[in-house]
Amino acid sequence: MKNNIDHARKLDLENPLRDFRNKFFLPKQDLGTIYFTGHSLGPMPKLAKDYVVEELDYWAKLGLSGHYKEDRPWKNYDDNLLAPFAGLVGSLEKEVGAMNGLTVNLHLLMVSFYRPNSKKFKILIENNAFSSDQYAVDSQVRFHGFDPKEAIIELCPKEGKLTLDENYILETIEKYKDELALILIGNVNYLSGQAFDVKTITALANKFNIPIGFDLAHGTGNLEFDLHDDGVDFAVWCTYKYLNCGPGSLGGFYIHDKHLKNKNIPRFEGWFGNKKETRFLMNRDFEPMDSVQSWQLSNPGIFQLASMRASMEIFEQATMPKIRKVGDQLTGYLESLLKENCPKIEVITPSRRGSMLSLKYQGDTEGLFNYLVKKKIEVDLRRPNILRLTPAPLYNTFEEVFKVVEIISNYKS
Ligand SMILES: *Cc1c(COP(=O)(O)O)cnc(C)c1O
Repeated sequence: MKNNIDHARKLDLENPLRDFRNKFFLPKQDLGTIYFTGHSLGPMPKLAKDYVVEELDYWAKLGLSGHYKEDRPWKNYDDNLLAPFAGLVGSLEKEVGAMNGLTVNLHLLMVSFYRPNSKKFKILIENNAFSSDQYAVDSQVRFHGFDPKEAIIELCPKEGKLTLDENYILETIEKYKDELALILIGNVNYLSGQAFDVKTITALANKFNIPIGFDLAHGTGNLEFDLHDDGVDFAVWCTYKYLNCGPGSLGGFYIHDKHLKNKNIPRFEGWFGNKKETRFLMNRDFEPMDSVQSWQLSNPGIFQLASMRASMEIFEQATMPKIRKVGDQLTGYLESLLKENCPKIEVITPSRRGSMLSLKYQGDTEGLFNYLVKKKIEVDLRRPNILRLTPAPLYNTFEEVFKVVEIISNYKS
């Protein structure tokens, strides 16, 4: 194999984020496993355990009065997360919150932003969007009395491809501008790893007054965003992938603050959207918070917020610009080693991307996948023939990238 491991080790020494690896429990590390599936479930920050146990102890000791304890009272526990969330997506603090799960939040925000009428009722979405997003839009369309077959417009890659041409996205928006009631884009696309130009796409949607939302499940903690300045109407994300907040952890959401003043936007309401000052007075009339947290319904899971706190500390220390820079180096290194050493591998992911590479293998993909499992390399297989590999800048190394490519290049079939 060309290149060599000493070069990889040198890159690790020069990596400004190299000390962050030690802040995580890396799965199956005792077996020597290389974990390249952080795009599906990020590993556990060591502090997450301490923070969760801390709150479990408070629960045992204090019960109900835990809501009012001096140290991070549960009733305000989510306050700690707003600044880091805002930093991750490029928004004001009053534009973000943590609640429910991603798909639930997508539904809740579609209640507000998908307002179809008989002329404008269509939704534009990628044809290879994540299953849950497709089920969500289909069911919303039906809920409003329309037929998904008619109402859903899919952005389809060219024959045999998985990625979309950016101009084609813009042309499609232009073409259907009088019929679209909503645009929903996954950024990054979960399957191809393609990222999209949020600013340009949003500017066009804004020009035609079409509400636009982004699913940032594969974006937050991976790419940098300026949702507020770009004029994005809403976004949702999960926190257990690149954000390492734990399986099934609370979802994140963003709504542009221009919508806060608009009294005509409907939303579903609950007591945790009520102003904090009067929330526990249980008054008959809802007094919305002055932030998009007025969309919150229920009291959030404290243990999930506790693990999220551990993760957000890491992101605040590492900072997104550095994470993206190291991420580009790691993923670029993976791509160039694959191109040099693995002629049967095709990298599908274009250069506008985050840390994940999607690969197609000209041969028995399932066989290659099983071989990698045996060699203790964790990647994932999207059947029939896509392998997804993510060297994540917070905890993976150049040496791991080198070893993974070396192992792939030794596979014979
Ligand atoms: C991971 C992911 C989801 C998962 O949805 P949950 O509601 O968190 O279970 C949804 N959409 C996309 C695009 C994803 O990548």
